[in-house]
Amino acid sequence: MSDLRRAWQAVDYELLERMYPPPPQYLDTAYLASPEEIERVQLERLQHRARRAATIPFHAKRWAEAGFDPRDLRSLDDLWHAPAYTVDDIRQSIEDHPPYGDYQAITPADAVDEPMRVFMSGGTTGASRPTFYTWWDREVGAVLTARGLYMQGIRPGDVVLNSWAYGLHNGAFSFDEPLTRWLNCAVLTTSTGNVTSTRKQVELARDYRATAILTTGDYLLRIADEARAMGLDPKTDLNIRSLATNIGDEQTLEDTFGVPCYSTYGFHEVQYVSVECPARQGLHIFEDAFVVQVVDPDTGEPLPDGETGALVVTELYKTGSAQFRYNIMDLSFLHPREQCACGSWLRRMGRFAGRGDNMVKLRGVNVWPEALGKIALEVPGTTPDYFVRALRIEGRDEMVVMVASDADPAQHDHIRAAVEARLKERLGVRIAVDVVRPGALDDLTELATSPKPKRFRDER
Ligand SMILES: [Zn+2]
Repeated sequence: MSDLRRAWQAVDYELLERMYPPPPQYLDTAYLASPEEIERVQLERLQHRARRAATIPFHAKRWAEAGFDPRDLRSLDDLWHAPAYTVDDIRQSIEDHPPYGDYQAITPADAVDEPMRVFMSGGTTGASRPTFYTWWDREVGAVLTARGLYMQGIRPGDVVLNSWAYGLHNGAFSFDEPLTRWLNCAVLTTSTGNVTSTRKQVELARDYRATAILTTGDYLLRIADEARAMGLDPKTDLNIRSLATNIGDEQTLEDTFGVPCYSTYGFHEVQYVSVECPARQGLHIFEDAFVVQVVDPDTGEPLPDGETGALVVTELYKTGSAQFRYNIMDLSFLHPREQCACGSWLRRMGRFAGRGDNMVKLRGVNVWPEALGKIALEVPGTTPDYFVRALRIEGRDEMVVMVASDADPAQHDHIRAAVEARLKERLGVRIAVDVVRPGALDDLTELATSPKPKRFRDER
C-alpha cells in the first residue's frame, strides 16, 4: 500500500513538542505564558478547530440550526455563540448513524493514513460510545497527561504500578501512554485487584520500589490496608512519592502515605484538562489545549466566575473526533484570570464537585449525591466509603446515605445519628443514614472492578 503511513510519518513530533511542550520544559514555557500569549494561542487554535469541526456533519447541522458560523469567531467570547451539546446528543448521533455516529471525523479505514486507537465509554445503559483517536490526538493527549503526572510528582525513570483496568475503556491506556512515551517510566501493568491480587500489588510496589500506584484513591487505601495486614507501614516500607489519583479521601491518603495529593480533572474524550499546583488554589487548565466554560446545568446560560455549574469543554488540540462546546455535566467553577502564587497565569478551575445530571430534587432542594457522601465522611468514625440511593417510599422521594465505619458495631447507632444531624444541618432536609461495616458496599460501588466507583443509584 503506497499510502500507508507509520506513526512517525503521520505525526510531526518536533511540531508537536513546540505546540504542546511536554514536561519538564512545559513548566518553563507554556505554564508561564503571559495572559496575552495564552489568549492569542487559544483564539488561533480555536479558529482552526472550528473550521475543522464545521466539516463534521454533527456539528455542521447543529451550527446551522443555531445560526453559528465559525468565521464569526473573532474573540474568545464569540465561542458562546456556538451551541453546546451533551452526551445525550452523542448517543442520539450513534443511534441515528450506527455504529460510530456522525460526530467523529474519522473511521477505522483512516488508520491506513495514520495509526489510531478506539476506546469505549458508557455501555452500562444503551450502546457503547466509541471515541476514535488519531495518533496525533493520542500523543498530544499523552503529553497533557504527562504534564499532570509530572506536577503530581512522578519523574522520569520511576517505576509505576498502573492499577487501572486495562479494558475497552481509555482509563489504563491514558496513563500507560504518557508514562511510557513522555515520562520514560517503567510501567508495571498490574490492572485491577481482579487481575493482580491486592497482595501481589503490595509485593510488587515494595520489591520494585514503585513511586506511584495509579488507581482510585479508594482502592489505594485498600492497598494500604493490605500492606498493614502484611506488617508493612505504607509510609516507610513503600516508596510512594506521588498520589496521582483523584477519587477518594485526600486527607486520609496524605496521612497514609505522607505525600501531598494534587487534584486533576479530565475525562474520556479529551483526557487531562487541568492539574492543581502546590499553591492549591485551584487546578490550572492546559489552556494551550482547552477552553473551559461554566454554565447553569438547567438552562445552559453562562455563569459568572466563582459560581458552580456544569463544565463546557472545547478542546483545541485534536485532529480527529472534535469536542467543541461539550457540556460534560461535571460540576465546578472558574477562578478569574490572575497570577497564581506559583507564577502561572493559566486559568484555574475548582475541584470536581459532582455530576450535574446526578442532581436529585429532594422535596424541592437540589441535592448532589457526591456532596452528601463528602458531608457524611466528615463525621468521626466513618471510613472513606459511601453509597447513596434515591427511593420512592409511600409517594415521597427519600434518600438513604450508606456509609462505612470500622468502629465497634455498638457505636454505629451513635455515628448514624451524628451523620443524619450533619446532613440535616447542611441541607435543611432529613436524609436517612445506614452505617455498615467496611467492604459491605463493594457490590454497590463496584470498587474493585470498575474504573470509577459508583456512588449513586436512582431506584425511583
Ligand atoms: Zn498555581
